[in-house]
Amino acid sequence: MQARPAFIPFNRFRQAGAEIEYIREAMESLHVSGDGPFTARCQELLEQELGAAKVLLTTSCTHALEMAALLLDLKEGDEVVLPSFTFVSTANAFVLHGARPVFADIRPDTLNLDESRLEELVTPRTKAIVPVHYAGVGCEMEAVMAISGRNGIAVIEDNAHGLFGTYKAKQLGSFGALSAQSFHETKNFSCGEGGALVINDAGYVERAEIVREKGTNRKRFFRGEVDKYTWVDVGSSYLPSDILAAILYAQLEQRDLIERERRKIWDAYRRELSNWAGENGVALPEAPAHCRHPAHLFYLVLPSGQDQARFLAHMKQRNILVVFHYQPLHLSEMGRRYGGKAGDCPVTESVSGRLVRLPFYRGLTEADMERVVEAVRAFRCG
Ligand SMILES: *Cc1c(COP(=O)(O)O)cnc(C)c1O
Repeated sequence: MQARPAFIPFNRFRQAGAEIEYIREAMESLHVSGDGPFTARCQELLEQELGAAKVLLTTSCTHALEMAALLLDLKEGDEVVLPSFTFVSTANAFVLHGARPVFADIRPDTLNLDESRLEELVTPRTKAIVPVHYAGVGCEMEAVMAISGRNGIAVIEDNAHGLFGTYKAKQLGSFGALSAQSFHETKNFSCGEGGALVINDAGYVERAEIVREKGTNRKRFFRGEVDKYTWVDVGSSYLPSDILAAILYAQLEQRDLIERERRKIWDAYRRELSNWAGENGVALPEAPAHCRHPAHLFYLVLPSGQDQARFLAHMKQRNILVVFHYQPLHLSEMGRRYGGKAGDCPVTESVSGRLVRLPFYRGLTEADMERVVEAVRAFRCG
């Protein structure tokens, strides 16, 4: 009997440099709660890179989106427009704080929000548009910002995939009044679980600090701006421990290395699979010339849903984990409660049943990469 080849996971966390040293430093400084020296260093680095008025680290991207929802002061009946093809938090964060999700379809090329069909979803109740830069490729932000401006609606970017990517040479996450970053294990930069709220509209800074500090003016008190620390607004606890910020800082410091290593994998997949894709009617990721993406993920869009199921089984048999996403939100149990039904977002419905994602992580060895490529090439669509 032949030995089964070693398992190739879909994702794997990898240290980038000084993580252990910084964790030790954070613990020895005895500031292990939130807003310590490493949090400040991460926030400053991100403020500089993105040109933001303020960046606040959070416990997750989901929580950064929830903070955005709180800052928008959503009322019952307010609507938030977002793609159906996204992670559940893009919708849930706003729904949790009283909004009704309105699901937009995506473009078939970049799988981003279809800006040409966006304005027809806007009503007098629309409070925000939430573009998701899928795979770190920028949405058509010129069009999105024009629609936001014409209608007086805030843009909140879900930039979980796109940190340090650009659209027309401007950083993703720097367009909306607010944007949300993720530092979850599966993202380009990670401290296990973590996120950040990027504040581009300076008018939100003071209240964001309060919302993040349990609705208190603790931050102003520590800065000596007020003489009492008290409950002044709604809020919750969104501060990550400085130990997590220490891990994150070590990763952010190595942003060039991390991107280089990821791009090498992305380029290799693209190069090695393009003939196979052409012969099998498979679409590979595309980035328009004006979008620079940070090599977040690599996907294949297969010709049919049967191909997707067969492909998953084919790779599993070779002990390689490939995954699919996203189940259309408008067709989920929750989405249907908000009126979602089949046919609302045809591109989302078609793509979601056909997309697969290949193993993608720094440290994927050349030998493993070759095994993945060989396995893919051994698959015939149709
Ligand atoms: C990962 C992800 C999130 C959630 O990130 P967390 O940090 O795990 O809360 C939100 N939106 C998108 C598009 C994501 O990929």
